[in-house]
Amino acid sequence: MSKQYDAVVVGGGVGGIVSAIRLAVAGRSVALYERNEHLGGKLAVRERDGFTFDIGPSLLTLPSVFDEVFRLAGTSLEAEVELVRLDPSFRYFWPDASTVTFRDEPVATAEALDAFSPGSGAEYLAYLRRARSIWQTSERTFFAGAMGSPVSLLRRMRSPRDFTRIDARRRLASRAASAFGDERMRQWLGRYATYSGSDPSLAPATLGCIAAVEADFGAWYVRGGLGALRDALVRVAERCGVVMHTGREVTEVTATRRRVTGVSVGDEHVDASMVFVNADAEHLYRDLLKHDRRLRDVQKTERSTSGIAVLVAAEGRTPMIAHHNVWFSRNYAREFDDIRNGKIPRDPTIYGCVSSVTDSTQAPDGCENWFLLINVPADDREVGSQVGEWLLDKLASVGPDLRGRTRWMEVIGPRDIAQRYRSPGGAIYGTSSNGRNAAFRRPSTRGPRRGLYLVGGSTHPGGGLPLVTMSARIATQLALRDNPQR
Ligand SMILES: Cc1cc2nc3c(=O)[nH]c(=O)nc-3n(C[C@H](O)[C@H](O)[C@H](O)COP(=O)(O)OP(=O)(O)OC[C@H]3O[C@@H](n4cnc5c(N)ncnc54)[C@H](O)[C@@H]3O)c2cc1C
Repeated sequence: MSKQYDAVVVGGGVGGIVSAIRLAVAGRSVALYERNEHLGGKLAVRERDGFTFDIGPSLLTLPSVFDEVFRLAGTSLEAEVELVRLDPSFRYFWPDASTVTFRDEPVATAEALDAFSPGSGAEYLAYLRRARSIWQTSERTFFAGAMGSPVSLLRRMRSPRDFTRIDARRRLASRAASAFGDERMRQWLGRYATYSGSDPSLAPATLGCIAAVEADFGAWYVRGGLGALRDALVRVAERCGVVMHTGREVTEVTATRRRVTGVSVGDEHVDASMVFVNADAEHLYRDLLKHDRRLRDVQKTERSTSGIAVLVAAEGRTPMIAHHNVWFSRNYAREFDDIRNGKIPRDPTIYGCVSSVTDSTQAPDGCENWFLLINVPADDREVGSQVGEWLLDKLASVGPDLRGRTRWMEVIGPRDIAQRYRSPGGAIYGTSSNGRNAAFRRPSTRGPRRGLYLVGGSTHPGGGLPLVTMSARIATQLALRDNPQR
């Protein structure tokens, strides 16, 4: 006899778990199937010899987006995890040995910027005003609902001025060049394109709103590591009655010509009138519900970048580092040219998260947990341990030398990311924001059969923890409207 639920969720990434919570809170019976043995998808952790690494997201922004989900379920983010608002939020380093520390307060950051590059403080505060306006407008338009076409966005706009406010016609690199006189500040602003795996010279200037999101709402850490957020989401989903299965791969989304009827999990059929697919859209339309036209459309969208992550279990303490650190490359344009041309950048910008700076539980006494990440093309490339050595050499040439202090090191590349999370090419964020129409080209939230919905990084509004959480809100609101409870 087949099992029966109101809704089935395919994939236990953050978008999938949050969708399941929202549906359960709305009174629907929900089952979630995850092919891996662990839930959380890319929100994953590696523990070894007393070291803990967040091997996916390491920075939490917009905690209110998560709080909204926990509150719907009768609790709160603060009740479920211990949040730490980081101050400093970031420390940036350049190859000329200059450095600047961003504080958790815009005026304090502006003062630091003036000491670093006279005049940059005022430019920063002026840019933040613009970035806030982008954010406020995007929040009530771009992020407020599904995105079938430009018309859906225009309908949510109050006036044509809203379109100007979101700064979508400029490229981020071009906006950075007009907002800042100092090349280093241009690089700093351009980096926000990488928060969605995009290229600053191709992504819309809209992405600059993340600068205001970080400055106003904070850069956050979850004590115990971001895995604690995943554990809290799983706990709350269980409390709400979601039935969660791990190690179970969905092999087909079943449907009539008009609507979904459920999913197949190996030999078992699970009946459901709503199916939420948190797996990548390419997998959905190629393998689960074959649909040539949708598959072609997905394949036309550009993938986000992938990454090479190097986990370094380091002995000793490093002076001058913060929890989040960035060592910029000499030439950002050349770095992204390399990525566009399918190469690992010769001179990459290196992001380094050392959460043991904030949380001593993350590394043994007197040690540090270094998570290094660089942007690379999403090309399914396999990388070996020599890439780890190469990256430590690069870091030593512009920053700390970890080479003599490394207890062990592990390298995670595009092929690993692709295989672990079934993410085509190892794309970190699903689809990129490159190009004028990227926002409208993402696979749409509503699938081609009634009752089928997409959630997660490959659909609207894109990747990153807050965005996939928003995608779950957008998809479940649509679904609950389409399928009122009888
Ligand atoms: C190295 C790295 C660094 C990152 N840094 C940050 C950061 O600092 N801040 C931030 O906000 N974001 C960051 N991100 C991005 C963020 O992790 C993702 O955007 C987000 O976690 C993706 O969630 P998702 O809902 O799209 O699901 P995913 O995490 O993609 O999970 C999808 C799940 O579906 C499962 N699945 C696939 N097919 C099937 C099937 N047929 N049956 C059952 N299950 C299936 C997969 O196994 C997977 O578990 C980072 C990601 C990576 C990899």
